[in-house]
Amino acid sequence: MKEVVAGVDIGGTNTMIGFVDAEGVIHAEGRLSTPEYAFADDFVIGLDTKLKEMLAEHPGLKLIGIGIGAPNANFNKGTIELAPNLRWKGIIPLVKITERRTGLKTRITNDANAAALGEMIFGAAKKVKDFIILTLGTGLGSGIVVDGEVVYGHTGFAGELGHMTVVEGGRVCGCGRRGCLETYASATGLVRTVLALLSDRRDESLLRELKGSEITSRRIAEAAAAGDIIAQEALDQTARMIALGIANSVIFSSPEVIYLFGGLAQAGDAIFVPVRKYADELVQPVFRGTFRVEPSGLPEAQAAILGASALIWKDAGI
Ligand SMILES: [Zn+2]
Repeated sequence: MKEVVAGVDIGGTNTMIGFVDAEGVIHAEGRLSTPEYAFADDFVIGLDTKLKEMLAEHPGLKLIGIGIGAPNANFNKGTIELAPNLRWKGIIPLVKITERRTGLKTRITNDANAAALGEMIFGAAKKVKDFIILTLGTGLGSGIVVDGEVVYGHTGFAGELGHMTVVEGGRVCGCGRRGCLETYASATGLVRTVLALLSDRRDESLLRELKGSEITSRRIAEAAAAGDIIAQEALDQTARMIALGIANSVIFSSPEVIYLFGGLAQAGDAIFVPVRKYADELVQPVFRGTFRVEPSGLPEAQAAILGASALIWKDAGI
């Protein structure tokens, strides 16, 4: 029998499930519609049924545990707490409910910490003890690893670098404060920067022909590659903000590598070259040259499931 862990990625729309072995190979995949379940208890029953179906279809597999990545998840307490994108309100003891229903060891963490674990167990950080991963999507998530362990802190919510204040009194953030890093250094932040530049500047730009909702980070990257000055300036400002976040984080935990993951990281050299340059310029001189900024080693489509399963595989000591 091949031992596998169920990696479960709970999103607002879909819950993706994969049976992952110790080498990071996915042997079976499944999906649940998250909003179909009004209550977390019903969801866990649905998950249990799905896992049994998947096992029945793959008789050679033995399930040894369940790792869950979810928004607003608390590793220390095994809970999902006040997640705005889920129907389940309040504080949900998901680990307890799942272990009781399935009889399997279950662990939970938030998406960005799962990405960090995935990087450590299956990705580019297998031999790296101190690193930070920044997930550059709609927002900016982060996982901080110190001496081979994810930093959770006293509350279980540590390491949310997206909500470091980088501009006091700056842009309004979804967390209710102003000037957080993610309001600048994310796909959404990049679009906000373009809109600000378009209204401040008179330069011609391909982006002026688009409606507001058509201005996406992909379009901006394409326009920059085609020589568009506004798009290039916006990418440069975004890179500088990512670098400022990195420079502050390096002073905090002295990582060997900072991995960039997600949509914006796909822009390749257009983002990595200026981020590296500015990070070197902005960091305290004693740290200059002590860290690298690299792309994640995980395939984007599988990273969430691999990362969630790594919660269990890490304890298994692989
Ligand atoms: Zn914030």
